[in-house]
Amino acid sequence: MVDLADAARRVLDAIRPHIGEGKVATYIPALGNVDPHQFGFAVAGIDGTVHGAGDQDVRFSLQSVSKVFTLALALSRGDEAIWRRVHREPSGTAFNSLFQLEFEHGIPRNPLINAGAIVVTDQLLAETGDALGLLRDLLRAETGNPDLDVDRVIAASESETGHRNRALAHLMASFGNMRNPVEQTLDHYFRQCSITVSVTELARAGLLLARHGLQADGSRLLSPQDARRVVSIMLTCGAYDAAGEFAYRIGLPCKSGVGGGILAIVPDRCAVAAWGPGLDAQGNSVTATLALGTFGSITGWSIF
Ligand code: GLU
Repeated sequence: MVDLADAARRVLDAIRPHIGEGKVATYIPALGNVDPHQFGFAVAGIDGTVHGAGDQDVRFSLQSVSKVFTLALALSRGDEAIWRRVHREPSGTAFNSLFQLEFEHGIPRNPLINAGAIVVTDQLLAETGDALGLLRDLLRAETGNPDLDVDRVIAASESETGHRNRALAHLMASFGNMRNPVEQTLDHYFRQCSITVSVTELARAGLLLARHGLQADGSRLLSPQDARRVVSIMLTCGAYDAAGEFAYRIGLPCKSGVGGGILAIVPDRCAVAAWGPGLDAQGNSVTATLALGTFGSITGWSIF
């Protein structure tokens, strides 16, 4: 029997000497203001109990981790049409790369890189009229924080400097792969990335996938099959160009964001969230990556 509270404490002890390592993302200027000397870790057991350590209640920018939840929302609508607009293969290029998109006729490689996530948000927006609102409601329910919201300063900073995301969206539009005006979809996309959460909240929200699509209130958002699909895409595409390294070192489906957060899923057991603002060369948080590896060694949990 694994003692999750003890595991969280041991992870913090192991990470302490590394806190502050890595480089905070600055291409979104507002993210560059975050103090790098922070680290939070939380594990939510399948029964909903959360055990945390360090800066477990400090909120940070969700960034690309949001893409897991918009994908879940798109699939929850039973809408297979999304798979005509985005593939499911690892990209092997940077998360904001344009060149693959040109070769592949405006169809992004997967829903967890920027182009793919923009398509998912575009689809949700076209189908429901409010992609951001749906995501915010889902995250409020699953994190248990009714005040969860967008950080407007970060959203404005993303929009002001979002030239690459605009280029991706316009390139896709040129191939007929955008259903809404580009600026409208990007407004939802920038705000979804700018939602703030703590690791405690993120771990709780991740239980949606650890429970194979069941929400905190016991209702079903995703079929077990679609929940498995989301988790499989996290494993193959969730850690930028380091997805192979993550599978090797951590052995769990993960999704990371440039805010320094990483969400990992241990199906049927728990969801784990780690956060440290300093990133490595691939864009994954140095301390959060180390923390997940340490958690895996302590618990022996891996999907392999
Ligand atoms: N909002 C960021 C962007 O569009 C997300 C990047 C990330 O976290 O991977 O560049």
